Amino acid sequence: MSDMHGHAPVTAKNGNGAPSGEMTFKERIYLVEIVKGLAITMGHLIRNILDPARFKTISYPEQQRPLPQRFRSKHRLNKWESGHTKCTACMCCATACPAACITIVAGEMDEPLVKNDNGVNKVIEKYPLIYDIDLLKCVYCGFCVEACPCDAIKMDTGKFPHAAYNREDFYWQNRFENGLPVVEKTAVDN
Ligand code: SF4
Ligand code: SF4
Repeated sequence: MSDMHGHAPVTAKNGNGAPSGEMTFKERIYLVEIVKGLAITMGHLIRNILDPARFKTISYPEQQRPLPQRFRSKHRLNKWESGHTKCTACMCCATACPAACITIVAGEMDEPLVKNDNGVNKVIEKYPLIYDIDLLKCVYCGFCVEACPCDAIKMDTGKFPHAAYNREDFYWQNRFENGLPVVEKTAVDN
């Protein structure tokens, strides 16, 4: 039968001579394809055993791949050499945070601290009594680091696994007294 233009119908054939979309008898019984697939798998297995450098997988977490230099990992609060936190509880990071996962409670120093920062003397009167981040809400965007005018928060610990049994353990908690750290608690910091 021809179509409306008088052309004879054309039936597409696959590589095995069967009309395309239809499987040949050899394909329908699958055996040949299974044997071909197993041969490829065994070939890779034997080559990998003879040359382990070919392995694409690693034994995580015992082995870890090197992280890129700018990888954003878990946070840390930067300190002065004296041990005082560099954070001045200015709230810039909490304001910039899109996940609203930073909690800061500001406190006042008993005596203002004077710190020399690259040749500039800074008088520090405020510090965070509380500096917490809910790591379950954090999206690791790094906006807090970008927003900080004091270079006080970093995301360069190289730690990133998240595993804990309780939600509270994902809460990174820092407590300070007069600018000095007294508590740092998080169970996922491994
Ligand atoms: S990395 Fe992003 S989401 Fe996480 S605390 Fe910083 S600003 Fe908030
Ligand atoms: S970490 Fe930086 S931006 Fe955040 S409150 Fe402290 S000084 Fe301000």
